[in-house]
Amino acid sequence: MASLRVLVAEDDPAIRELLVHHLSRDGFITVEAPDGNAALRHGRDGVALIVLDVGLPGVDGFDVARTLRREGHAAPILMLTARADEIDRIVGLELGADDYVVKPFSPREIVARVRAILRRSGQPHEPGPQLLRFGRLEIDDRAREVRVDGNSVGLKPREFALLRALADRPGLALSRDALLERVWGYDFDGDQRTVDVHVRRLRMKLEEQSGLPACVHTIHGFGYKFTQP
Ligand code: CA
Repeated sequence: MASLRVLVAEDDPAIRELLVHHLSRDGFITVEAPDGNAALRHGRDGVALIVLDVGLPGVDGFDVARTLRREGHAAPILMLTARADEIDRIVGLELGADDYVVKPFSPREIVARVRAILRRSGQPHEPGPQLLRFGRLEIDDRAREVRVDGNSVGLKPREFALLRALADRPGLALSRDALLERVWGYDFDGDQRTVDVHVRRLRMKLEEQSGLPACVHTIHGFGYKFTQP
């Protein structure tokens, strides 16, 4: 079963990153919007659910919800609000929001709400192991194996996890810190060069040994991004 796409519309990068991290770990595909216009654009694209901050720059969360509903988009909406006085407007529900959470929240609570809303709306989240295909490159979660042209590339567990984290969000630059946190965990003590060392090994195995065009790109002074090779 394919993973469901969840739009995270939130302008605070730290909160957005936290939500994306927990939702992707739970098997959702995440799409990110840092402002109201991006939220509208991705919302119109068709997603299974929208996590929508009320206080967005440009078009605010209320207007995003209202506009999408008026245009006939039915994806459930979970509103995030920092202010208790906004709750009345949200539960007034001329907006068509399905639920709301008041900040500060625990990311686990958000994931639980997202799951509950999806269940109620008849699109239960049943993340299966995934097979990601990018041309000649296959990333197989179930077998924890990466293949090029059908041949297994012998990746170590961290190398696999690193490629998996990058390939989850093609085209999006991920900082070394974000990668450290995602692949090595919050309490990892090593430094950012750990990421560089593993990227170098990944490139050696994918490009030099398997003849794949470059797919892990350096973003100088920041981190890395994945594109389809
Ligand atoms: Ca905000």
